[in-house]
Amino acid sequence: MSAQGQPQTPAPTTGLAPNSHCPRCGGDFRCGAVGGDAHCDCFGTRLTDALRQQLARDYPQGCLCMGCLRELIRLSASSA
Ligand SMILES: [Zn+2]
Repeated sequence: MSAQGQPQTPAPTTGLAPNSHCPRCGGDFRCGAVGGDAHCDCFGTRLTDALRQQLARDYPQGCLCMGCLRELIRLSASSA
């Protein structure tokens, strides 16, 4: 029951149960790539090649949740 940091606002677009944990924030989320879905939320993000490589290096276990992806995209965009 302890709220830490900014509130998580999960935005499930598929309505399916989460099947993965975000290695960055620890939140549950649904990874379409893991679940074999036709669509994954990350397909809709615009990751740069540099950011993709950074993610692969920092989080070799796989996907991050949409909240973290959006944050990283914003951070990388603002630092560019
Ligand atoms: Zn996350």
